Amino acid sequence: MKRVGVIGGGQLAWMMADAAQRLGVELIVQTPSVHDPAVSIAQETIFAPVDDASATEILAQKCDVITFENEFVNLNALSGLAQQGVCFRPKLEALAPLLDKYHQRCYLRDLGLPVPKFFALDEVENLKPKIEYLGFPVVLKSRRHGYDGQGTFIIQDFTTLEQKLSDESTTQTLNKSLFLLEEFVPFERELAIIAARSVEGEIVTYPVVETQQEQQVCRRVIAPAEITPNQVAEIEAIAHTLLNSLEVVGIFGIELFLSADGKILVNEIAPRTHNSGHFSLDACETSQFEQHLRAVCGLPLGNPALQCAGAVMVNLLGYENSHSDYQSQRQQIAEIPQAYVHWYGKTESRPGRKLGHVTVLLDNQNQESAGAYANDIAHNIESIWYPR
Ligand code: ADP
Repeated sequence: MKRVGVIGGGQLAWMMADAAQRLGVELIVQTPSVHDPAVSIAQETIFAPVDDASATEILAQKCDVITFENEFVNLNALSGLAQQGVCFRPKLEALAPLLDKYHQRCYLRDLGLPVPKFFALDEVENLKPKIEYLGFPVVLKSRRHGYDGQGTFIIQDFTTLEQKLSDESTTQTLNKSLFLLEEFVPFERELAIIAARSVEGEIVTYPVVETQQEQQVCRRVIAPAEITPNQVAEIEAIAHTLLNSLEVVGIFGIELFLSADGKILVNEIAPRTHNSGHFSLDACETSQFEQHLRAVCGLPLGNPALQCAGAVMVNLLGYENSHSDYQSQRQQIAEIPQAYVHWYGKTESRPGRKLGHVTVLLDNQNQESAGAYANDIAHNIESIWYPR
């Protein structure tokens, strides 16, 4: 397996480049725009939308295996290619229950994994009693194509919910069947785990991390999360159950809620490399990107362990519309001891857009207050990055 086709050319594909080179793998990318980050590292690019299956057919002719850097694909259209023998890793059947958030919740519940209470909006005639069962606030989610909190709305009362549904319906000709409604989880913290499964069925997991979101967008990740060994074991078991049940080949990111009384619920599954695993590029022996390529190429998996006491990762999010490359802020951040800045080379900044990230490795000296120390570093980075 020397030629890997990647559907999607954003930063997640871009970050596979170093590992691909080390493993002697060529990356051929399907992505719509010449400005997409992975175009610069791809051996070859097929310029087409990620859901264009006829472009994927061309991609398939150039590759030994095809993988995904995002989940906005058209599985029905791709299934014809799979029937003709195109090798997708993970296989399309492993993605099928996950791409729609309602189907995903049903799949996890049916596997016996803990999830928030939820229902599909089109299943109910009379909303009010159903909502009383969940209790306000409720969370309204687009079933497909949500990312970085786009399509996730925390709703405080019935009038706002009705307004939201009619706004969404009129502006985007959406209908209720495109939404899921679920309980608001008053979590104490959000956690995530990255897990990989090989062709042989071997599974490795990365350290459980704490993720910090603001306005539903990930701002910071702290590795490892300060949780109990039992909680770590419970989360690792969730990852094993899920990856084995789907017979996944490749990396998955699993987002979780931790409640004040120590209970764990699964929030969301990303069937690909994930923002919560970016720390692994600098902090782990095998990064999530190398691990993913190893898995999809049929190689043995690498060691996912941290090579340092811990790490903190901070996303560098756009805060304005601009074409700046933010040289001086990046330089200042790079001067922080043990900091590794990754800049995705996007030509356009927009509020909330992920432009890069920085990982700072933590040593043993501050172990007693590792969480507080990591938070201090993150806030220092953000005070350099965001204008006051
Ligand atoms: P996306 O696919 O856009 O990342 P998520 O479903 O992961 O959307 O939601 C983004 C963020 O919104 C979560 O990280 C969390 O902070 C918040 N959120 C999502 N669902 C809930 C929920 N049921 N209860 C409380 N907060 C939630």
